[in-house]
Amino acid sequence: MKALLGVLIIIPSMINAQGWMNEYIPLDPANQVTFDTKTINDTIWLSREDSLAYRSKSTKYSFPFKVSAGENVMFHYSKRIGGADPDFNCDFPKRPLQKGDSGKITICFPGRIMTPPYVHTQKYVVNSNSSERDLLVVNRHFKWIDRDTIHTKLSLGDSALVIIEHAINSKPDIIFLNLHENEATSIDALKVVADSIPIDYFYLEHGGERRVGFSKDKKQYSIDPNRIYTELGRVATLEENDQFDEFGLNMSNYLAEQIILKLRRGRFIISVHNNTPDNYSIESYLPEGNEAANTGKLFINESADPDDFIYTTNHFVFEAAKRDQINVILQNEETFVDDGSLSIYCGLMDKQYINVETEHGHLEEQVRLILWAKQVVEEFNTLQK
Ligand SMILES: [Zn+2]
Repeated sequence: MKALLGVLIIIPSMINAQGWMNEYIPLDPANQVTFDTKTINDTIWLSREDSLAYRSKSTKYSFPFKVSAGENVMFHYSKRIGGADPDFNCDFPKRPLQKGDSGKITICFPGRIMTPPYVHTQKYVVNSNSSERDLLVVNRHFKWIDRDTIHTKLSLGDSALVIIEHAINSKPDIIFLNLHENEATSIDALKVVADSIPIDYFYLEHGGERRVGFSKDKKQYSIDPNRIYTELGRVATLEENDQFDEFGLNMSNYLAEQIILKLRRGRFIISVHNNTPDNYSIESYLPEGNEAANTGKLFINESADPDDFIYTTNHFVFEAAKRDQINVILQNEETFVDDGSLSIYCGLMDKQYINVETEHGHLEEQVRLILWAKQVVEEFNTLQK
């Protein structure tokens, strides 16, 4: 599978024995930073291509600079404005610099967990020996290049749930997600893809079940994490087990909000699910099927497994699947049944949504369809330009 995908982005040789990254100096002369002390703000851009960050390892960046103004420049390490992590003092010239001087500044920082969107603006003081201190703005762009993940723990009453998030792009076009933890093939499929290409995805961890359980003062609740994105859905999923009350509703709403927050970074949402034979398949969307009200358009490839299919809110994706002989449903935006699922939410909010659904154990097919979906989103984006 990996050989098939072929793009490797891990660069372990860049880490030395101390756990620091080797100095990284942008080779492009355009990356040279010129300090003009006549201006108040200078900006150093460490672009995504030029910068690398690890969650658990310390890193340092070096870049060349040149002093262009007539006034002498003296670098000072200064506490970051609004935070505790600059370590600008790793290495920089300690003597006054004059016009025409050039050299190298190194910024060091410890490994840590970062939160999206991975672009941190830091301000450092450059003393130009004038009465005013100039501000040097350092924009640090981070890029995840390993399998590191962010764990977000959510408290639901007396219980907890963890969102496991693999985030790699500062502006991802697509966020992949799994909502049903027992649909393990789909989580595995995301991991297989993420081994080879930089995708952003997350899933929920709460004991391996489909439903999320929580309690408050000994009262038990159980909700389907794919039925909580509308008020109707939240009420219905709690009422399934006669557990509806104000607290249950608040917790369902809270979980939905947290998931939507994680999805906001992406323009396309691609969810992955698994089913078992003989309960739910593309045939459920036929006129006599119990999902018929959700069907806008339908294409069935008679020679494909009916349990493996695409469900989408996007016309282009529907037509592309049909072209490529993949089972596909286009959601009916008029007659859909509001069960509070993410696809309904996306339909209501005009968000681009694709569900890659396969039978449990169809890992290879699910990987193929995930890659297919990513490719089609790229085609769609090209047409939009
Ligand atoms: Zn599912």
